[in-house]
Amino acid sequence: QAKMLQRGRATLFDEDLSASARVRINLLTRLRAAFCAEQLFLAYQPQVDLVTGRVLGAEALLRWETEDGTMVPPDEFIPLAEQSGLTVPIGEWVLRTACRQLKRLTDRGHTGFRMAINVSHTQFREPGFVAVLGQALQDCQVNPKQLELELTESVAIGHIDSTVEKIQAIRAMGITVAMDDFGTGYSSLSVLKQLNVDRLKIDRSFVQEVQENADTSGIAELVIALGRQLGLVTIAEGVEDEGQRRQLLEMGCQEGQGYLFGHPMPGPAFEAWMATVA
Ligand code: C2E
Ligand code: MG
Ligand code: MG
Ligand code: MG
Repeated sequence: QAKMLQRGRATLFDEDLSASARVRINLLTRLRAAFCAEQLFLAYQPQVDLVTGRVLGAEALLRWETEDGTMVPPDEFIPLAEQSGLTVPIGEWVLRTACRQLKRLTDRGHTGFRMAINVSHTQFREPGFVAVLGQALQDCQVNPKQLELELTESVAIGHIDSTVEKIQAIRAMGITVAMDDFGTGYSSLSVLKQLNVDRLKIDRSFVQEVQENADTSGIAELVIALGRQLGLVTIAEGVEDEGQRRQLLEMGCQEGQGYLFGHPMPGPAFEAWMATVA
């Protein structure tokens, strides 16, 4: 891991660094140290069939607990790591760790389980990314059909042709691809169509607007209709109550993820939880 990190080492140094830049560099230094000290871990959140409630898989979510026990949210440190190149080695670690967990679950009888991982755009853009994926699958002995990559619309910005090609190569390996946080970015509908993904994830902000018995359900309903039109499976994220589940189901959404079904859980807790539901 130390060797992989050399590439991402920040060389910034400037007397005039603003206070906020200092804070960011400090956080980045601590993140790099935490990664080297293996203080990052993954939490797994169930993804379920909205009709039957059956667990279909899980999304792996990165966690960083600092020495003093504070949790730094990924929304805070991932964009930072992204700017420094640190997301590439961290992303590879996430991939391998999630694949190992997938193998453990499969060995425990949870066959057909789907493991979704988040891939940042710098990681996705790396020339060796597809090879890294293939190697991780082989090393961990997992079926590519059980791995899903969650990409955001930002991967395609300025690189539409190469993104289309890369997604095609990844899907040709058997891996499925989901468009994460759909509707929060800037890509057009034609871009979504070209990218040719398997699943559309409805962002939590749109799910929050969904109320039982509401006349209009806003953007979530439009995204579900769009998914149906394009032949994609839709999964709602951030489903917190039964009313939302029922309304989403009525609108034609097939899958869900959220506190209603389960919080993100560290590996051992997730395995124990799986044993109670399956
Ligand atoms: P995301 O991929 O959209 O992940 C869903 C986020 O919603 C997670 O936040 C999850 O904990 C949260 N969530 C799920 N259900 C509920 C709910 O019912 N209510 C509420 N209030 N929140 C819910 P988290 O874990 O803080 O992650 C935030 C973002 O950080 C992720 O958004 C993803 O973009 C990024 N991220 C997390 N792990 C990784 C990783 O390994 N690699 C990369 N590149 N990005 C990651
Ligand atoms: Mg995600
Ligand atoms: Mg999301
Ligand atoms: Mg989100």
